[in-house]
Amino acid sequence: MTILVTGGAGYIGSHFVRQALKNGYDVAIIDNLSRGHKESVPEGVKLYNVNITDFKKLAETVKEISPDAIVHFAAFAYVGESVEDPEVYYVNNTAGSLNLIRAAKAAGVDKFIFSSTCSLYGNPVKVPISESEPVKPINPYARTKLMIENTLSDFSDAYDLNYVALRYFNAAGADPAGMIGESHDPEPHLIPIVLQVALGKREKVFIFGDDYNTPDGTCIRDYIHVNDLADAHLLALKYLENGGASDIFNLGTGNGFSVKELIDSARKITGKDIIADIADRRPGDPDVLVADNGKAKSVLGWEPEYGLDEIISHAWNWHQNQKY
Ligand code: UDP
Repeated sequence: MTILVTGGAGYIGSHFVRQALKNGYDVAIIDNLSRGHKESVPEGVKLYNVNITDFKKLAETVKEISPDAIVHFAAFAYVGESVEDPEVYYVNNTAGSLNLIRAAKAAGVDKFIFSSTCSLYGNPVKVPISESEPVKPINPYARTKLMIENTLSDFSDAYDLNYVALRYFNAAGADPAGMIGESHDPEPHLIPIVLQVALGKREKVFIFGDDYNTPDGTCIRDYIHVNDLADAHLLALKYLENGGASDIFNLGTGNGFSVKELIDSARKITGKDIIADIADRRPGDPDVLVADNGKAKSVLGWEPEYGLDEIISHAWNWHQNQKY
C-alpha cells in the first residue's frame, strides 16, 4: 500500500514518514522544501518537489504516484504570520489543499487524512475540549484549516472520498533515535525556545503573560509527542481501510501544563538554569487548551505513549545534536 505524504519533509510529516515505513507502507513525498528539510527524508523515499498551489503539476504527480491514501501535512502553521499575511495562508493552506483534494478525486484516491488544529476551537467554553465543542476560529490560520475540514466533509458526502481530520493540540518532542526533530526559522514555539536558552543560544525565554485565569497565571497547553501524533495517523488510515466513516478526532494527551511548569520541567531535565522573564500577553492565546481525547482512544484505539518529561528530554537530545 502506497501513501502519498505532502509536507513529508516537515516536522510532523517527517516523523509520520518514519513510522509509516516501520509499519511496512510504501511512501512517496510531495514537498516544495520551503519550510521542510531535505535531510529529514529517509534514503530510498521518493521526494517530488512540487508546490501544491500548482494544480496542473500536482494533479499529474498524484496520478503518477497513484497512491492508496493521502496524508496531507503541507501547510503554513504560524498564527502570528497568518494575521500579518493572510494571503499566503489562504493560498497555501486553503487553495493548495483544495487542489490536493481535487487531485485526489481525479486520481480516484478515496482515503484522505488531514492535519487540522485545536485552534479551531478559539477560546473554548468547556475544557477538556471534545470534538462536539463548537468551532469558532479566532485567527486566519485556523480559518484556513476549518475551510478545508468543511470542503472535505462536502466532498465526502458527494463523492467517493473518505477522510479523517486530526485536530492536533501542541505538537512537541522529537524521534528518540535523534535523526529528526523540530527546526523552524524563526522559531516561535515554547519548547524549542526554552531549550535554546538551555543551550546558551538565547539569553532568556519570555513568558507571554502571567495574568491568565490559571493557577499560576500562565497559559496551560496540552503537549503531545510528535511520534504519538504520527501513530494516530497510522491508526486513522487503518480505520479508513476498515471502512470507517469520515470523522474528526482530537489528538492530545488530556493533560495540561502551564508555561511555568514546562520551564521548571526543562530546568530539571537539562540541569540548566533557564532564565525566564514575564512579558506581555501574545494576542490570540486562550487561557487553557486541553484535549478530551476519549474519541480517538475509543474509536481509533489510540493511546499516547509519552508524557511531558519524555517530550522535553527527546527534544533536548535533538537540540543538542541538531542535524539541520
Ligand atoms: N509562549 C511563551 N513564550 C514563548 C513562546 C510561547 O510564553 O517564547 C507560550 C504561548 O503564549 C503559549 C504557550 O507558550 O501559551 C505555547 O506556545 P507555542 O507557540 O509553543 O504553541 P501554540 O500554543 O501557539 O500552538
